[in-house]
Amino acid sequence: MTTFVPTANQSLSVKFRNFFKPRDIFLHDGKSLRRFTIGARLQMAVVSGIVALLIWSLVATIAAINAMSGDVARMQQQVAQMQSDVDAMRVAVRERATQLEQRTAFLDTMLTGEATATRLSQQLPRNVETPDNARAAAMVEGFGRADAMQLALAERLETMTRQRYNARAAELRRRGFDPARFQAYTGQGGPYEAAAAADDADPRFRQLFTTWRALDQLETGAASIPSARPINLSVNFTSGYGVRSDPFRGSAAMHAGIDLAGPLGTPIYATADGIVGRSEWNSGGYGNLVELNHGQGIQTRYGHLSQRIVQAGQRVRRGQLIGLMGSTGRSTGSHLHYEVRIDGRAVNPIPFMQQPASTMAALQRPAAIGGPAAPGGAAAGSR
Ligand SMILES: [Zn+2]
Repeated sequence: MTTFVPTANQSLSVKFRNFFKPRDIFLHDGKSLRRFTIGARLQMAVVSGIVALLIWSLVATIAAINAMSGDVARMQQQVAQMQSDVDAMRVAVRERATQLEQRTAFLDTMLTGEATATRLSQQLPRNVETPDNARAAAMVEGFGRADAMQLALAERLETMTRQRYNARAAELRRRGFDPARFQAYTGQGGPYEAAAAADDADPRFRQLFTTWRALDQLETGAASIPSARPINLSVNFTSGYGVRSDPFRGSAAMHAGIDLAGPLGTPIYATADGIVGRSEWNSGGYGNLVELNHGQGIQTRYGHLSQRIVQAGQRVRRGQLIGLMGSTGRSTGSHLHYEVRIDGRAVNPIPFMQQPASTMAALQRPAAIGGPAAPGGAAAGSR
């Protein structure tokens, strides 16, 4: 083997090959000296093997890192998805829980009989849509049972309210009143329109409210209907309504009311809620007259009083003392002349006195769904 002298123009393969020239290794074990020769081929094979191993492990490492970073990205995605699921679930659960609470409060108000239109319209539950997020949707399905129970209760209440409305309306029609006369009474302005405009209200609860409101208007309006006796005595008619022989002129004349006899000073009570229109001496024959305006074009008149106890403009309740029986004006003895007038026309008061107390009391403010009983209503029922 010649001594290797590198020159600039030697090719790379030659350099490479020359690098692996055979090498001698001497081993001395203390006694003898041994010589081994490692050929160029073997050296090349070993180095190539090592290089191949290094390349392979580098490739494998890169592949592993790539695979791992793919996993990390997927995991990051999953975590993000889980985070958004959890957020959606939290929102959905909060919304549903709030809705259930609102519905409970609304139903509670309605069932305790403390309902007013204002209060109910403020408590009207909001509508809640099913969440877009599938997991959140699945989670709030757990509220399904409570939801169904509330809706069933609302539906039952709506049916009961509707039936009661129909019964009241039929009752009014039997008395000769168009229910529309009372419907318009409380419907103008105020909380009703606000509630009707609440588009985000739970539709079934809005329906319940609408029906309740119609009943409430009817019952509030119907409080203007005279439905009690003006005197506490077992009624002693001395003269009925209609054409009769005039006790003063002796000729036939229209009697616009009824005459109820009783001792001088017998208490006279208002037969419906209203405002005193007149409390005055009337020279046309009524003598001491009290006239009450009950709204809806309904009036009552109380004539021949010995004493008037209320003043014009004063608000009175059904059953409130308004005067004492007398014999003033065109009267032949102590009695009350009682009139019921509708739209300025006198009608027979008897049907307004002959209603069984329970029936007419039912026409007035009821205890449960319709709200508090009108003051004086109970007193009217007891007479
Ligand atoms: Zn009379």
